[in-house]
Amino acid sequence: MLRSLPARSLVRPLIASFWLACAASIAQADPVADVQALAQKEQQPLLDTLRDLVNIETGSRDVEGLNVIAGRVADQLKQLGGTVEILQPADIYRLDDTPEKIGPAVHAVFRGTGTKKIMLIAHMDTVYLKGMLKDQPFRIDGDKAYGLGIADDKQGVALVLHTVAMLQKLNFKDYGTLTVLTNGDEEISSPGWRSTITRLASEQDVVFSFESGGADGTLRLATSGIGSAYLTVHGKSSHAGARPEGGINALYELSHQVLQMKDLSRPEQGLKLNWTVAKAGTNRNVIPAEATAQADARALKVSDFDELEKTLQEKIKNRLLPDSKVELKFEVRRPPLEANDASRRVAAYGTTIYGEIGLPLKVDEKATGGGTDAAFAALKTKGAVVEGMGLSGFGAHSNDAEYVQINSIVPRLYLTTRMIMDLSTAKLK
Ligand SMILES: [Zn+2]
Repeated sequence: MLRSLPARSLVRPLIASFWLACAASIAQADPVADVQALAQKEQQPLLDTLRDLVNIETGSRDVEGLNVIAGRVADQLKQLGGTVEILQPADIYRLDDTPEKIGPAVHAVFRGTGTKKIMLIAHMDTVYLKGMLKDQPFRIDGDKAYGLGIADDKQGVALVLHTVAMLQKLNFKDYGTLTVLTNGDEEISSPGWRSTITRLASEQDVVFSFESGGADGTLRLATSGIGSAYLTVHGKSSHAGARPEGGINALYELSHQVLQMKDLSRPEQGLKLNWTVAKAGTNRNVIPAEATAQADARALKVSDFDELEKTLQEKIKNRLLPDSKVELKFEVRRPPLEANDASRRVAAYGTTIYGEIGLPLKVDEKATGGGTDAAFAALKTKGAVVEGMGLSGFGAHSNDAEYVQINSIVPRLYLTTRMIMDLSTAKLK
């Protein structure tokens, strides 16, 4: 899930002085020139992979399609020499809208000779329903590649696969482990794979998440968290005209609860709680026995959700009608991603790497828009988590033609490959 803006041209022509600098040091193996040349060669194979991935419809509830794409991704990772498994979800965090069956994830590990642990994540599912692909098939028009789900997040999966391919072609193995995880439930808030992402990420030095970098390829170190609160009141029905005193009015209790929990937002710290949906009663002449309400919650810090839930659970003990029963369920649909020093360092190094090919790179640590799996990756790690490593793109979650900028492929392949190389050899600590 990523919000994007109309694309502007990302890539400026390489400056002449850059090539002169390369020529001067060409006698030795030059990672800048070698990786750059290889990235250019890798562009077409990446587009071929992207076409294949777009051609498999993979709505989050389309387990059949997700199994097909998982097989495709796993095969490619095996060919690249990884230890690969297709995992089925075991530990499901059931949300209000979680389907009964959740799609698989592909897990691959490449073992190197060094010590650094690096993980690459992307998601295989889309928000679209089966049958929509025919209206937005894969096609290339000028400098854009179009297709359903191409920006969110088929490009991410393709970029991960071809970054691994680049490292293999460079015969680079100085990392300790390079782990790949692609899951099939991101667009439904990752009920099946959140715990796996958190667990695997907790062992890493760096996690790169390959959602699109938006229109201008910005790396993101923070995203806001989304939660929901569900309030249920049980009362007792009775004839509203003949014997209202025999009932317990769940609607009255619900109103009391909502009003006493209406001022828990703290806008100055980005914490918001707003009651948005309510339902009570069945007939005009019956005292309602049941009433429910839902609230939308947002936070920038993980601990704010914990405190909010505690406050809510405390508040419901204060009842208007002591004989009613009040229950509150709080679910974290997505925790917020918070920037830390490690992620700041890694992202800042990214700007250096982009500088090698004459490109600017923006890093944003103000939370905007919805959350992603990067937030689950960051929950229990002290390492860096960087979101937005993917291609520049536009049109995610919309009926607009979704596309990626082809001229962002070479720079992004260069960026991820070079960052993995320097992280592994401790040029970046
Ligand atoms: Zn996404």
